[in-house]
Amino acid sequence: MNKKNIVILGGGFAGIYTAMHLERLLSKQKEYELILVNKENYFVYQPMLAEIVGGSLGIVDSVSPIHRLLPKTSLHIREIDSIDINNKTVTLAPQFSHTPLILHYEHIVFALGNSTDFRSTRGLYQHAFPFKNLSDALTIRNHLISVLEASILEKDPILRQKLLTFVVAGGGFSGTELVAEMNDFIQAFAKRSRGRINPDEIDIYLVHSKERLMDREISESLSRYAEKILRSRGVNILFGAKLISATPEDAILNNGTRIECKTIIATAPSSANSLVESLDLPLEKKRLKTDRTLQVIGKTDVWAAGDCAYVPLAKSENEPCPPTAQFAIRQAKVLAHNIYASIQGKKKKTFNFTSLGMLGALGHHSAVAELFGCIKVSGLLAWFLWRSLYWVKLPGFDRKVRVAFSWLIDMLIPQESVQLKLGEHQALAEVHYEPGEIIFHEGDAGDYLYIIIDGKIEIYTEREGEKKSIAILGKGEIFGEQALLNERTRSATAGCLESSDILALKKADFGALISNLKEFREKVEELERERTLKNKKLRGM
Ligand SMILES: Cc1cc2nc3c(=O)[nH]c(=O)nc-3n(C[C@H](O)[C@H](O)[C@H](O)COP(=O)(O)OP(=O)(O)OC[C@H]3O[C@@H](n4cnc5c(N)ncnc54)[C@H](O)[C@@H]3O)c2cc1C
Repeated sequence: MNKKNIVILGGGFAGIYTAMHLERLLSKQKEYELILVNKENYFVYQPMLAEIVGGSLGIVDSVSPIHRLLPKTSLHIREIDSIDINNKTVTLAPQFSHTPLILHYEHIVFALGNSTDFRSTRGLYQHAFPFKNLSDALTIRNHLISVLEASILEKDPILRQKLLTFVVAGGGFSGTELVAEMNDFIQAFAKRSRGRINPDEIDIYLVHSKERLMDREISESLSRYAEKILRSRGVNILFGAKLISATPEDAILNNGTRIECKTIIATAPSSANSLVESLDLPLEKKRLKTDRTLQVIGKTDVWAAGDCAYVPLAKSENEPCPPTAQFAIRQAKVLAHNIYASIQGKKKKTFNFTSLGMLGALGHHSAVAELFGCIKVSGLLAWFLWRSLYWVKLPGFDRKVRVAFSWLIDMLIPQESVQLKLGEHQALAEVHYEPGEIIFHEGDAGDYLYIIIDGKIEIYTEREGEKKSIAILGKGEIFGEQALLNERTRSATAGCLESSDILALKKADFGALISNLKEFREKVEELERERTLKNKKLRGM
């Protein structure tokens, strides 16, 4: 028998809980098959990600295997390539073969979440870390350990200060929780360094465009409490400021401030999933617009829930539900019921949930909590509430046991700062520079070849304080080849004249290219000869 498919896109809170409810509701409807598509084979409990960065939870403690949560659902661990609403198909990107997989559906559920939007800010994509999923948490933790370890032996005071300066952009609860956990972790690392890192050298910034922390989630008094706690622990909070550009050397804010640093993490602004944006479906603020039954407006077989959906809030038609797990879980329940009701020809339910409150962890066994709109708790009690509530909500008994053990161990044994590197190899990296910044100095090691995507770079030498320009290079031109071809240090300095995007090719990969592509090698060698000659003339040699 050809089964009728209910395809759920996304395995986060909204997707997993929709599938859980549908597994139960459709247990007797053998003609229906539940299919869930997700990039990963696990579900991540995002509210606990900050604890992974800080190390109070182990890397896999907050994730649950989807197969175990959804035993009756077919799981496709694939990227979604395209969706055809008219022909009711979803195409999944090829994986181990070159063939895509086409899924036909009777009902489709969009639960794809949102993403941090790096497109609107220059340099963010290249130089800032997002903080959204497990791999982001792991990458940030590895990076923090790298810069802290490097700072211990760094002799150059300017570079050392950059290594010990950290910028988090976005003071919503993910940014606030992250900065709190990071601060605890970095301070503890400094303490364990036996005087090799002085806690006074550490600068941690939280940059927030609004005038108070977690302004959308909690009331002013609790925001101020959180601010006081973080400031007292040494976090610099900059209100009314926005990150407008990022480079390998600094974070640039809209008020003209430049924070020299090697760590930028951006939790804002968030944007809809790009797949959702590309569809011919009604959108509001780039999210799929639904009615209160979670049905996408004008479509009886298209549903949406969670962060990618614009679901009207119970108390106001013009306001959407906030993008929180609390809402996603409850929307999923109503959505599953309504798909079942559609199949059975029964009455659908409307989504009338209003928030139970919000909890935000502030590290060091403290938190803020606002419950049922009137109960406000802060400090240790709120922290205890935060842990208990999230622990109860963790899906799966085994996960609960793991998390409880990790928390217990964390209280008894000092944390370890071990990196879990995955040996990633990236041949080409995109970098962004702002005017006045230096890409490399004369005398530096030749480690990369650079190709200008956009912008202007000046190559120059300096003798006794006098600058002599060798070349001004623009779009499509390359530089940095001399040191690589001749295996020596840089013979000139490369400085940025205009806001520039550059491709950086590692020395080893440059070597592989020139030894295999004869014409490329000849062109680069010719360029190198011309530039060496010009350089010599300028030096009067
Ligand atoms: C750090 C952090 C802390 C948070 N803390 C809290 C909190 O304390 N309380 C609270 O209520 N909320 C919190 N939230 C918000 C909450 O986690 C989200 O609102 C919730 O996860 C939304 O669920 P979702 O199912 O809509 O999206 P998600 O949970 O983001 O799931 C989307 C899923 O879709 C998959 N996906 C996306 N695109 C594709 C594609 N092209 N192909 C295949 N799969 C795809 C992703 O892999 C992901 O698994 C936090 C969020 C973050 C990032």
